[in-house]
Amino acid sequence: MPDQKKSILLVEDANFFARITVSEIERAGPYHVTTVKTYAQAEEILDEGKLNPFLALVDLTLPDAPDGEVVDLTIDAGLPTIVFSGRFDQRTRRSILKKGIVDYVLKDSPASLGYLGGLVSRVDRNFSTKVLLVDDSSQARAFLKKRLQLYCLNVLTATSGQDVLEVLQQNPDIKLLIIDDSLPGASGFEMITQIRRTHSSNTLAVIGISSKDDPALTAKFLKSGANDFLKKSCTPEELLLRVSQNLNQLDRIAELTEMAHRDPMTGLFNRRHLYDVVDKLHKTQTRAGKEMRYAMIDIDRFKQINDRFGHETGDNLIISVAHRISDLLPSNGVAIRIGGDEFCVALPGIDEPTAKQFLSELRSSMPVTDPGNGEHTFAPTISVGLSSGSDDTLGSALRVADRCLYRAKKSGRNRVVTSSALTVDVV
Ligand code: GH3
Ligand code: MG
Repeated sequence: MPDQKKSILLVEDANFFARITVSEIERAGPYHVTTVKTYAQAEEILDEGKLNPFLALVDLTLPDAPDGEVVDLTIDAGLPTIVFSGRFDQRTRRSILKKGIVDYVLKDSPASLGYLGGLVSRVDRNFSTKVLLVDDSSQARAFLKKRLQLYCLNVLTATSGQDVLEVLQQNPDIKLLIIDDSLPGASGFEMITQIRRTHSSNTLAVIGISSKDDPALTAKFLKSGANDFLKKSCTPEELLLRVSQNLNQLDRIAELTEMAHRDPMTGLFNRRHLYDVVDKLHKTQTRAGKEMRYAMIDIDRFKQINDRFGHETGDNLIISVAHRISDLLPSNGVAIRIGGDEFCVALPGIDEPTAKQFLSELRSSMPVTDPGNGEHTFAPTISVGLSSGSDDTLGSALRVADRCLYRAKKSGRNRVVTSSALTVDVV
């Protein structure tokens, strides 16, 4: 199996620091850290071109490069570079920061190791994170854009309020908006208020920026709906920290939302997802005049399976059926565990013959199950009801699919019943 871990180059001559750094970074995410101890080894490994790291972590004092020369080496190789060093004199720090590194982290406590792990994971996620920077001053824009690119963010820019709305509409995956207070036309505050009508702070973070030294600005930005405020004169470290903090918070909210929408036993979506996300999808589909079908799927005589073979066998069967549904699901289909032994599959824009083909394949591929207690294997079956695709609301579509499922059960189980002709497709 290919190694899915992302590669990081660590240049560190002290064995102890190298060991604890590797363990911290590899704990922070799917990373594989390759350690070299000298400038010459770092040069050799980069010249070889086999490692392909996405990031370099470097110490400033190496046996053959005592003055931070390795920073130039990794930056010239195009690698985002984090300095992790025990040297803390301000002159070194300033001169190294000027070279265009991501950050300068002091090796002064266990907390700094934790910070480094978090920073590596942030930089990794930044590669797929879009930021929109809005400022009418080309100088300020260029300066901030360069800074944000050093953190590996994808930076889009706009110069006026009108532009912001357009860019946000064209790029719904923008996670962070950094916006100046004074813009031509509508001010930054007015723009934020307008944007908040359509973009919640759970999915889009907003940081206000200003070159003015006015203590009232922070409250004004926050009241308009911004998450944070920064002066344009802030240090690069403060910018990195505020940007990272806001993005990390969005990522945590996204993780929690994802968890709240999943059934932990099968990994399929749950009821909440059906009545929240799928309901919205239903409205969009019907408004656009497109079909939206639903299949209700229920395992036959599941109670008997539980009673005869035990709950663990029952649980394993629910999981296997969920996997079959996921494996065979047409693209764009959404698979939901309603509860117990009942599933729902939403099929946006999928015509009846394709839906029926998927369901009949599913029905005929139920996993032969070994209860594992010396009893014979058994072949479970499912019954399915399929709605017609033309129902106005999610509620009415689900009622139709449910009625079809009821008919499938009543007419003998192990079959698919469609609503359009109320035909019964028996095995
Ligand atoms: P029918 O063919 O009419 O669907 O009969 P059935 O026995 O499958 O009836 P029903 O769907 O009402 O039975 C569902 C049973 O599933 C009842 C409940 O005890 C059991 N059940 C619900 N959730 C779980 C679960 O997570 N694991 C297991 N093992 N059993 C569950
Ligand atoms: Mg059942």
